[in-house]
Amino acid sequence: MDIRHVAVVDPATEQVHHDRRIVLNGDRIAAITADTLEPLAPDDLDGAGCYAIPGLIDCHVHVTSVTADEWADTGMAPSYVTAHALRELRAMLERGFTTVRDAGGADTGLVDALDEGVVTGPRLFVCGRALSQTGGHADLRPRGRYHVDDHPAVPGIGRIADGVDTLRTVVRELVRSGVSFIKLMLSGGISSPTDRIDGLQYSDEEIRAAVDEANRAGVYCAGHAYTPEAVARAIRLGVRTIEHGNLIGPAEAALIAEHGAYYVPTLVTYTVLAREGPAFGLPPASVAKVAAVSDRGLAALGHAYRAGAQIAFGTDLLGQMRHHQSTEFALRARVQPGWAVLRSATTTGAALLRADGQFGVLAEGARADIVLTRHDPAAHVELLAEPDTEIAAVLARGRPVVRR
Ligand code: ZN
Ligand code: ZN
Repeated sequence: MDIRHVAVVDPATEQVHHDRRIVLNGDRIAAITADTLEPLAPDDLDGAGCYAIPGLIDCHVHVTSVTADEWADTGMAPSYVTAHALRELRAMLERGFTTVRDAGGADTGLVDALDEGVVTGPRLFVCGRALSQTGGHADLRPRGRYHVDDHPAVPGIGRIADGVDTLRTVVRELVRSGVSFIKLMLSGGISSPTDRIDGLQYSDEEIRAAVDEANRAGVYCAGHAYTPEAVARAIRLGVRTIEHGNLIGPAEAALIAEHGAYYVPTLVTYTVLAREGPAFGLPPASVAKVAAVSDRGLAALGHAYRAGAQIAFGTDLLGQMRHHQSTEFALRARVQPGWAVLRSATTTGAALLRADGQFGVLAEGARADIVLTRHDPAAHVELLAEPDTEIAAVLARGRPVVRR
């Protein structure tokens, strides 16, 4: 199957090549050539009038989140949570996301099921459970609860691990299970009931131990952090990706750029949490925390962009709010030019995943994850926020999975 007469968009060079033929071979792109007058074969996809962009990459999702109440999710049967995850993975493909990085909750069982074709969905990169200190961002226990149930079958975004030795063991366990990165909760957050947004979580020694274990195993650490202090400390201690970072200023943005780290803003989740969170189970204590970070996200993105930091696309939506995933494009378009937004969701995402040349690019040898849009996506990147009308087709692993 080939895609015929399509305009091929290259976010890396900011060029559009018109009337191309994308030749597919299994789940790879075999060649991209100038097209000819040769009639279309019955299984060819007519791309005339459309633009082909690399399949989109979202570097911060939670596929196993069922509701906005993360504590309630931990009481659900794992099979029920998995059923919801499969439905959401399929929905992500419909929005053009052919690769997603789960920032806590999904395990390698889902990765294997997707790779084996047991279920249809994006390529999935996982960290297993995000790691949190007691009373930190993944400690979801209400104040009166003391028991910790860290059985691996209990659903949830994270788990508690305190102390250098325990962290080393837990990171080794996660690596053994096949994760591609380690997620650390390094400041307070919205959904945790007993911490402050501006709290610094984990000691320097604990962070160093996790980073050391991860690096020696060939994986990297991602850090959830909001405040300038939390972000700067994470970067200095070797954390490779900063999740959220809503409160950073120019100095932290420069530090991220200087260290070659990645910044993963998740703007849409705050917009949607403020509006819909309570209706979908966000507890009142968490609602109060949303305001503290939501207004600053766009400014932080501006600082990172001007500092030349590598910025990846992230959304961080929970439960029933995840259908707003594509709205992130419209929010970023307020701050960054179209090409920059497009690179966040393609080339930069791939580099973050250490998969440059595989994903995030349309070129010979790359994976055949391709989205066809109805308008020039660099000139109208905000239209990607409306995938139902803007996205004409999605190919994942070389197969057409969406056609509109
Ligand atoms: Zn987070
Ligand atoms: Zn998250």
